[in-house]
Amino acid sequence: MAVELGHLESLRFRGTSAEVTPVAPPPPPGPGEVLLRPTHLVLGSLDRRILRGEVPFAGTLGRDGLFIVHDAGPGVDASLIGKRVVIEAFVSCMSCDVCRGGLRHLCLARTAHGLLRVDGLGSTLALAKATSLVEVPATLGTDQALVAQSLAGALHAVRTASLDSRGFVTILGDGLIALLAAQVAATINPTVRVLGRHPDRFTLCERLGIKHRHVVEVGRRHDQAVVLDCTGDGSTDDLLLAADLATPKARIVVKAPPVRLPLASSRGRADALAAFASLEASIHGAGAGMVRDAINFMLRTRVNTDVVLTRRFPWDRCMDALDALHDRRSLAVVIELPRAA
Ligand SMILES: [Zn+2]
Repeated sequence: MAVELGHLESLRFRGTSAEVTPVAPPPPPGPGEVLLRPTHLVLGSLDRRILRGEVPFAGTLGRDGLFIVHDAGPGVDASLIGKRVVIEAFVSCMSCDVCRGGLRHLCLARTAHGLLRVDGLGSTLALAKATSLVEVPATLGTDQALVAQSLAGALHAVRTASLDSRGFVTILGDGLIALLAAQVAATINPTVRVLGRHPDRFTLCERLGIKHRHVVEVGRRHDQAVVLDCTGDGSTDDLLLAADLATPKARIVVKAPPVRLPLASSRGRADALAAFASLEASIHGAGAGMVRDAINFMLRTRVNTDVVLTRRFPWDRCMDALDALHDRRSLAVVIELPRAA
């Protein structure tokens, strides 16, 4: 390629600490692969859990962001080169029965960049499968592209709940996915409220015009027709809270990470499941969703990105960006990479 990239670097996590290190140029993209040049990375709660040692991952960080296709391998449409793209939260095999059946986000062999078994995309140049990319339409701004992957998960959770305008709706959690899900849900049902644990984030709900309460203040009156658990970990406490909020025949949706992650504890989970069963409530899981659905949604409906993309740092302040993830006021941290010369 004619584009001058200068020396190449990666944001690496070694299991206990992170650093930006010089790296050798990656190999040319193989069949079905592309070489991506990130312009922005988005770090969120799963990255925070990696840094804390709650999710075992070592390697290049970077699950999400906005990228320019720098080179395309054999079998990949060369017209993609130079295009802005975003990436799915998962990497699917594309050949198993689940993938071929149209449910690639549930592929049993799926991995995830910067999260499970595959290096992340936090490098000057990074390899990815072309099937994981979605081109960003010219009418979509940078910040909208930066929330596309998270919005895909939020949208999928709301759609899984079959939301309509009837009944009360509660969203558990006050992180990035929760506040995006609240924005989507509020376009369908006016009662949507967010139950969170971080008073610092309630002002974000106010800016979005969405009702909010602290979880300790809420009445447990079995009056919520839909409960979306967007806390990210489906903990026992949250499942039991959802059971106390839900009406008989309620729809409970637990937003799961894009891949199955090890759980800290399963104690008490059976109690929560029994409580749901006694209500004949249906519990649905919702995984990553598809980025193209999120992009199509944003082409029709305004999504407030200012509120959820809370902190921004240049690449040479990567370590400050990682520190900012531990500040609970940060929903998502954006790292801007240097432009190629
Ligand atoms: Zn598959």
